[in-house]
Amino acid sequence: MLSADFLHLEKDIEMVNSCADIFHLDVMDGSFVPNISYGFPVTDAIAKAAKKPLDVHLMIVDPEKYALKFVKNGASMVSFHLEATENDEKASRILKSIRQAGAKAGLVINPDIPVERLFPHVGNADFFLIMSVFAGFGGQKFIPQTYEKISRLKSYMQERGVDTPIEVDGGVSLENINALHKAGAEIFVAGSAIFKSESPVNYVAQMRQACID
Ligand code: ZN
Repeated sequence: MLSADFLHLEKDIEMVNSCADIFHLDVMDGSFVPNISYGFPVTDAIAKAAKKPLDVHLMIVDPEKYALKFVKNGASMVSFHLEATENDEKASRILKSIRQAGAKAGLVINPDIPVERLFPHVGNADFFLIMSVFAGFGGQKFIPQTYEKISRLKSYMQERGVDTPIEVDGGVSLENINALHKAGAEIFVAGSAIFKSESPVNYVAQMRQACID
């Protein structure tokens, strides 16, 4: 939703309702990332009009301070950055509290964090989010090393009989969605590619098709 037209937000919410599976909301605090995006007034407004689940991606310091409020306000999925937590125990506790509050708990890593850092949380997180650009800005170019990170996480999980969904966020488009799907990702976050296309509804339909092909 970072790529939405905030002057005509309702129109873009209806578009997402009509063709996509989830609303992905990037919440930035100007501290963990240099940018500030939007907070509760905007995400609450989206929650009211959304007919699909809300996926809140926290790009903030102290995620434990706000994660549960997003669950209370309607988020079905809440993820936070492993880099934003002091250690693995802290991250585990936040994952647990999100789940206890009734949402799916996700753990995110930026492109400069080795994927192995997620391994201790396999079995604990409800989904993993691999950033394919650096968190904090929309419209960045996709980083190709993402494929390898996804497939390494996927095979690590397969060896252990775990099937946690992998989400990918940043520069996802028709150019790379098929390869990302083949690498093992199953939740695709796309902003600019969809919102800037001539027909967002057709674009999403083509993205779905690209995962089957
Ligand atoms: Zn995101």
